[in-house]
Amino acid sequence: MDLFGIKARKERKAADAAFKAKQEELRFAKIKSEYQILKDRVGKESQESYDNARKKLTTENEICPKCKSKNVNDRIQRLQGSFSGSVSGHSSLFGGSMYGHSSGSIDTNEVNNCNDCGHQWKKYHMSYSDYTSLIEMYFSRLNYRMEEYHKAKTATVDKNDLDEKYTSDKEKQDALLSAFVDSFQLKSIKEVFAGVSIEAVQEIAKKEIYASKYGDRFEDFMEHWDEYFLMNFLGLKHIEI
Ligand SMILES: [Zn+2]
Repeated sequence: MDLFGIKARKERKAADAAFKAKQEELRFAKIKSEYQILKDRVGKESQESYDNARKKLTTENEICPKCKSKNVNDRIQRLQGSFSGSVSGHSSLFGGSMYGHSSGSIDTNEVNNCNDCGHQWKKYHMSYSDYTSLIEMYFSRLNYRMEEYHKAKTATVDKNDLDEKYTSDKEKQDALLSAFVDSFQLKSIKEVFAGVSIEAVQEIAKKEIYASKYGDRFEDFMEHWDEYFLMNFLGLKHIEI
């Protein structure tokens, strides 16, 4: 006998909890597989970047560009300022800039010397994008685009500005939004995040950004988080179980 329906209620509660746990389990598995898709894509790109740099290393340092001789060796050019090219990369998480990984220290005075014709040229140092720098780059690009989108969407007319071209907020926002769509290259982030759900992008960002040397930038990343943007500009969808 279940006089006050206590037993039935308990059973219902247990069934609900089991259902929720199962849903959560499926959701997690889905996110995990989408993360793997992203990792494979970025990993492949990083491998290609490495392979290209490796190829370049051989051709740039082992063959004289003047006489095509392979009788080449390394030298340190002692004259300061002879070779002023900078090889160091600039990296800022949300600046949307390119990332480069360079192996070892760079001595800008290091040159290759051709033993046949005497030509000397700046030594090429391998530079490629590794997985970590690439994934950070994609997330920073995504963040940057969402930030730009937010700016365009909320733009207002400044009546005290001599340079102001627009007469209404709406007109200004429409112009900025269309310029945003035309001028910014959304293609690369669209490609890399294709098939990854909105929920997974957030979860992966949390993991990748926290895990990176940039610390707790995840909060910054979420500041302009915009689902409309993700759905309409990147074609992303919500997770489906
Ligand atoms: Zn030569």
